[in-house]
Amino acid sequence: MKKTVLINASFLVEVDETEVRKDFGMIDQIANELCHDQKIRIGTNEVNVEWESSSTVVLDPGSMNCGKCSTCGRWITDREKSDPLLQLCNGATFKGKLLCDDCLPEDHRWSF
Ligand SMILES: [Zn+2]
Repeated sequence: MKKTVLINASFLVEVDETEVRKDFGMIDQIANELCHDQKIRIGTNEVNVEWESSSTVVLDPGSMNCGKCSTCGRWITDREKSDPLLQLCNGATFKGKLLCDDCLPEDHRWSF
């Protein structure tokens, strides 16, 4: 018996602010390149992967639970604050600094 699995993948891209407001600008064109049906070869099997949906969000640390790790600069979400963006890497605020799961101290709850 087969099961259907919904795989979500997220990508980050930096574009000029002027691109954000464009219809079918760089963002839509990039999404088109990323989102299509694919045949993926796993060993000797070929698996059909059907594109289902995509969405884009312009990250805004002022209004969303997201920001860059103070140490490595990776985009992360603070898991100890409300409305985390779960598609981003986990992080938390430690001694006043937003840190990713790699940069948090090893014994921290959200350390990887
Ligand atoms: Zn980091």
